[in-house]
Amino acid sequence: MPAQPVCKGCGQPISGNYLTAMGACWHPEHFVCAACGRPINGIQFQQYQGRPYHIECYNQTIAPRCAYCGRPLVNEYLIDHWGTRFCKEHEHQFPHCSYCGRLVPPQEQEAGRSSDEMRCAVCRGSAIESAEEARPIFKKLIQWVGGQGLRYHSLPLTLELCGREKLAYYLSERGQSHSLGATMSKTYSLDGRVVRSEVTGVAVLLGLPSTLFQGVTVHELGHVWLIVQEIQDLPSWAEEGFCELLSYRYYSELNTPEGRYRAASIERNSDPIYGEGFRRIRTRADAMGFPRFVEALQSTKRLP
Ligand SMILES: [Zn+2]
Ligand SMILES: [Zn+2]
Ligand SMILES: [Zn+2]
Ligand SMILES: [Zn+2]
Ligand SMILES: [Zn+2]
Repeated sequence: MPAQPVCKGCGQPISGNYLTAMGACWHPEHFVCAACGRPINGIQFQQYQGRPYHIECYNQTIAPRCAYCGRPLVNEYLIDHWGTRFCKEHEHQFPHCSYCGRLVPPQEQEAGRSSDEMRCAVCRGSAIESAEEARPIFKKLIQWVGGQGLRYHSLPLTLELCGREKLAYYLSERGQSHSLGATMSKTYSLDGRVVRSEVTGVAVLLGLPSTLFQGVTVHELGHVWLIVQEIQDLPSWAEEGFCELLSYRYYSELNTPEGRYRAASIERNSDPIYGEGFRRIRTRADAMGFPRFVEALQSTKRLP
């Protein structure tokens, strides 16, 4: 004769009806929900950390919630790079932040910004919106770049935060496009030959999230150094690759989630100038060590 079943809930032998669940026998009234304490009468329940829940109670108390609409995430849901969980359907409902890829729900969208300048609440929260905010950071960045071996012979450098239009103007002067920063310089030429370049500073788009602002500024400080050192003849992949490598080193040193995200996006960039240039320059710089690479560039004015 088989042993009489024992209820896992109360520890007493069961003589009448019982149910089996989670590998044990229970008095029906003792198989209870860990959230509300009432019996689980249906066949369906949700297990969480070894305890049973009514589906509804699980959804209300345990299930993760969508970061955007607050509903419990019970079916398939998505997690972005930053660990934000959200309902799958929002992926196509909301635009992505231009700077970090997070979704930007309607309540976070800023009026009057174009879709390529969409900012999420996180990026807006750290954005550099004034020259006062930017100045002390700019000073530190010049020091950091100096520590990388790039010196400016105490050239007074200015930082200008500017809107899209002004930035586009600076970029067109140097034949660049589609960038978040530019160097401000004057080039004097004679018979089509560059005689002298005078750097005045760096222009960066107003309102960038802080980490990106710093990386963009470091990149531009790379261009400034090349001009100051009269290293004029690098192909554009090498020039941009060198400046991207500088930003990459800066982001990597930050050792923050934001810094790692930015460093990874430089590594993954498929652009033939910026991405390919970065990878080629990094290989060369890694082979001889960055400080020696900078020294060689400075003394020979050519790509080591
Ligand atoms: Zn019992
Ligand atoms: Zn319950
Ligand atoms: Zn949602
Ligand atoms: Zn963002
Ligand atoms: Zn550049």
